[in-house]
Amino acid sequence: MVELDRNTILKQMGITQWVLQDAQAGENPAQDVPLSQAQPVLDKASVNEPPAKAGGDVKAIAQPAPGVTPVAPSQTAEPKLLSLESLRAEVAECVACALAKARTQTVFGEGPDQADWLFVGEAPGQQEDRQGQPFVGRAGGLFTQMIKALDKSREQVYIANTLKCRPPGNRDPLPDELQACEPFLLKQIQLLQPKVIVALGRISAQALLRSDQPLGRLRGQVYQYGPNQIPLIVTYHPAYLLRQPADKAKVWADLLLAHRQIPL
Ligand code: SF4
Repeated sequence: MVELDRNTILKQMGITQWVLQDAQAGENPAQDVPLSQAQPVLDKASVNEPPAKAGGDVKAIAQPAPGVTPVAPSQTAEPKLLSLESLRAEVAECVACALAKARTQTVFGEGPDQADWLFVGEAPGQQEDRQGQPFVGRAGGLFTQMIKALDKSREQVYIANTLKCRPPGNRDPLPDELQACEPFLLKQIQLLQPKVIVALGRISAQALLRSDQPLGRLRGQVYQYGPNQIPLIVTYHPAYLLRQPADKAKVWADLLLAHRQIPL
């Protein structure tokens, strides 16, 4: 298959200009600059500052405070196994919430154990439930294009979801489901130790950041996640972009922000 260059991929994503301004001001004039030369949206100093206007919840999670330190919910036993493969096996047997009854299979996640990038989506959809893989179908195709635009392949990044089983009818996850499944994602992050985490969509962002802020207020900032202060960026879910393609440029700005958090 002919390899597409980044400009072609961005064009396919509907992005004709590269947005390098503050991600929250995604409509600002853009500049055509290679990824390797793109400037960070936030400088180093501001990365460690609480967001200026995002409210109390975000302030708490922007710093290495107890609110963002991964702590397993008290009502669910923390997974004790020590490798991703053993954790995968544990998830496959899990019946900790009602979603176990209707699933075809669990969707644990996929990618190399040493991946620099961790993308966290919401929950498996119908296709994911059938195939046992995250991000397949149309949204998965767009996600793959996004990864290619970063000069990466899907095989080079780790992809996971907040929930490992499909909610019926693709409804939003319920709070008790998120709470029951959270220890698995926290353990995945602990085992992977990626260099950057990208939360895809509101459900993932709110769960990881323990926030009730809308996605629009969570994006455009760099959070320090967990005791190792892994940079965490929030952006839109690819399924949302299929409905709102005009926001693809904002996602590209968010991905550039994430890219700048990875040490050279
Ligand atoms: Fe277990 Fe998570 Fe599936 Fe619920 S969604 S049954 S907690 S793996």
